[in-house]
Amino acid sequence: MSRIAYVNGRYVPFREARVHIEDRGYQLGDGVYEVCEIRDGALVDERRHIERLQRSLAALRISMPIAPGALRFVFAEMLRRNRISNCLIYLQVTRGVARRDHGFPERPVEPSIVITVRGLDPRKAIEAAAIGVSVITVPDNRWGRVDIKTIGLLPNVLARQAAKEQGAKDAWFVDEDGFVTEGASSNVWIVTRDGKLVTRPDSSRILGGITKTVAKEVARSLQLSLEERAFSVAEAQAASEAFLTSATQTVMPVVRIDGRAVGSGEPGPITKRLRTEFHKAAEIGPKLL
Ligand code: PMP
Repeated sequence: MSRIAYVNGRYVPFREARVHIEDRGYQLGDGVYEVCEIRDGALVDERRHIERLQRSLAALRISMPIAPGALRFVFAEMLRRNRISNCLIYLQVTRGVARRDHGFPERPVEPSIVITVRGLDPRKAIEAAAIGVSVITVPDNRWGRVDIKTIGLLPNVLARQAAKEQGAKDAWFVDEDGFVTEGASSNVWIVTRDGKLVTRPDSSRILGGITKTVAKEVARSLQLSLEERAFSVAEAQAASEAFLTSATQTVMPVVRIDGRAVGSGEPGPITKRLRTEFHKAAEIGPKLL
């Protein structure tokens, strides 16, 4: 856990970091967030994360509480104060504190901003990726705008808990037509028996993952063939490889879906290749430390 958190312009000891009980994030889930990887003291794909944050905020009509340049300064300060250079940065912006009422506050309030960091152990990540993960599937019962990265994550919470209770690492959401939308906190991919990469195109039914965008670029640079279309659970189970992408896990092999082994039941060669090539295609910023 981080020792120092950033809350509304102040760096405060983690244990004392607080927001007001009438923060609309706490009361109504009225806010958005971003998770970004810091690798060797440098931000990975900062530009895309900031752009997505701005899109999410605009969709909810919340103003950006801090200029992107100043935000980078805060990130650098957080790394310095927490003495950490490999971590995830979590950033949350809510509409702010106001008397509880569903409509927006009559008198404008300042958005609340909270930033925390959490250590990433590159060794553990390598170990996990060498084995791969199991996933279960669950009906996608989320709202129609999951392309906005809101903090309202209850279906994702319940899906991940169901996975845990069934001994799996993650859950994949499945739409009403039997097609996989995305993971509880990741985008999903398969490699067909004839070697084609398949992932669902961006739409309001999935979050446009930054890692997914970069992985597509890696695939292109490796001259792998890529199809952007939906796939069913049965097609995924019969695929030769499957994997998920997220800033937290980059490219993570999926070796079991609802108890059925995918391919050999071990991480596949294309997945491994995308994982090792990933950071070469990502935009790595200047060292902040
Ligand atoms: N979908 C969902 C629902 C997520 O929560 C995440 C993780 N933020 C992703 C996809 C992957 O997005 P990214 O690659 O930007 O981390």
